[in-house]
Amino acid sequence: MESSRSLEHVLSMQGGEDDASYVKNCYGPAARLALSKPMLTTAINSIKLTEGCSSHLKIADLGCAIGDNTFSTVETVVEVLGKKLAVIDGGTEPEMEFEVFFSDLSSNDFNALFRSLDEKVNGSSRKYFAAGVPGSFYKRLFPKGELHVVVTMSALQWLSQVPEKVMEKGSKSWNKGGVWIEGAEKEVVEAYAEQADKDLVEFLKCRKEEIVVGGVLFMLMGGRPSGSVNQIGDPDSSLKHPFTTLMDQAWQDLVDEV
Ligand code: SAH
Repeated sequence: MESSRSLEHVLSMQGGEDDASYVKNCYGPAARLALSKPMLTTAINSIKLTEGCSSHLKIADLGCAIGDNTFSTVETVVEVLGKKLAVIDGGTEPEMEFEVFFSDLSSNDFNALFRSLDEKVNGSSRKYFAAGVPGSFYKRLFPKGELHVVVTMSALQWLSQVPEKVMEKGSKSWNKGGVWIEGAEKEVVEAYAEQADKDLVEFLKCRKEEIVVGGVLFMLMGGRPSGSVNQIGDPDSSLKHPFTTLMDQAWQDLVDEV
């Protein structure tokens, strides 16, 4: 049975296109995409395609959301892959077709994504076929050996669920109703780290099944510099995370009003 702490059915970026929408508030992830583009290009160029599979390549963007980031990611992948195949084929453009799977939780605003698809694909230098795949990337989303390139950009920080332990009142790992780990006990941080480990293993197991041998998996996610285990003991922690700390306070204010 699905855990009551599961985030799959509640989490989504703000849909639509108004001032509060993800489309209008995705500068952070956009900057990360721009910075990581050279790494993505190198990763795609490392693809090892077997004979006969290069005429129809399948690409998936997991946690694609909506907006310019979604399309620029896919455009980069298709562009680089096309060039790479042209090189393999001796400089001439081989007859190839790209199929792109835009995947996110079912609560993602797929309607908005599909509405802008036509214009984006036609505006793109390389055309591709597109489909939406709803579901959590912590589960299987595709048949075995289906995909050639899988990317997931700024999405793996979302866990599959709130760790049970941080909700257990009175236990050492109880986060006292907080939604952020700033100032929390080390047991709280450990509970989140444990959940993140489990989730990442699950994610990788699923992708291992779905990606062809020689295919590429590119994961862009936040991390800490080596040597810093977690935020505990970091005197600059609240300066580094002012937004999340304030959100926690704002959330608590709302809860207190009820
Ligand atoms: N890749 C985009 C979106 C980043 S926002 C960009 O670079 O701008 C993170 C996205 O991950 C959100 O759309 C969210 O719905 C999605 N997400 C979070 N948890 C997920 C899960 N378990 N499975 C699939 N998508 C998930």
